Amino acid sequence: MTCGGDTGKAIKYIQKLCKYKEWQLKGIAEIKIPENYIALFSVPDKETSTQIIKESDKQINKIISDIKSENEFEIINPSGLSGTLKSGITNTAFYKIFVHAKGFHYTNKCIGCGECVTLCPLNNINLKNQKPVWKNNCTHCMACICGCPTEAIEYKNNTQNKRRYYLK
Ligand code: SF4
Ligand code: SF4
Repeated sequence: MTCGGDTGKAIKYIQKLCKYKEWQLKGIAEIKIPENYIALFSVPDKETSTQIIKESDKQINKIISDIKSENEFEIINPSGLSGTLKSGITNTAFYKIFVHAKGFHYTNKCIGCGECVTLCPLNNINLKNQKPVWKNNCTHCMACICGCPTEAIEYKNNTQNKRRYYLK
C-alpha cells in the first residue's frame, strides 16, 4: 500500500480487511522504492534507482525472515493529520479528477509490440491495428508508459523528454 511518499492512513484499510477476514494483524513493514509517478514528478536516474532497489532487497529479506520467525511488526501510523487528509479527502478527489487513462497516447515510435498490454495489471489496454487503446479502468501505476521499450507512450504534455522509471 502507498499514499505517495508514505503510507498515509492506509493502515485503516488493512485493519478493516483483517477484521472482515477474522485475521490477526501482525503489523506492517515499510519498503522504500524509487519514485515512478512520471505523470507529475521526475524519477531518479538509473544509478540512484538501482541503489534504492538494492536497499529494498535487503529490507525485503529482513521482512521475509521476520515473517518466518513469526515476529510482529510495528503498527506504523506515522502521518497524523497529514496522513488523514492524504488518505481521505485528497485521495478521493485526486482519484476522481486525475486518475484516468484518458491522458495516455502513443507516438509514432510505437512498434506494436504489445508490451504495454502485458504490463498493465488491470487489463486496461488492448491493441487495435497494432496500436494501444486504453479503456476506463486505470489506477495510474505507470507500468505502460515506463515499460514501453521504445518510449512511445506519453501522458498529456507532462512526460515529454522525461526519464522513465527504471523497472528492472
Ligand atoms: S509497448 Fe510501446 S511500442 Fe509496444 S505496443 Fe505499447 S506503445 Fe507500442
Ligand atoms: S497506468 Fe497502469 S493501470 Fe493505467 S493503463 Fe497504464 S499500466 Fe494500466
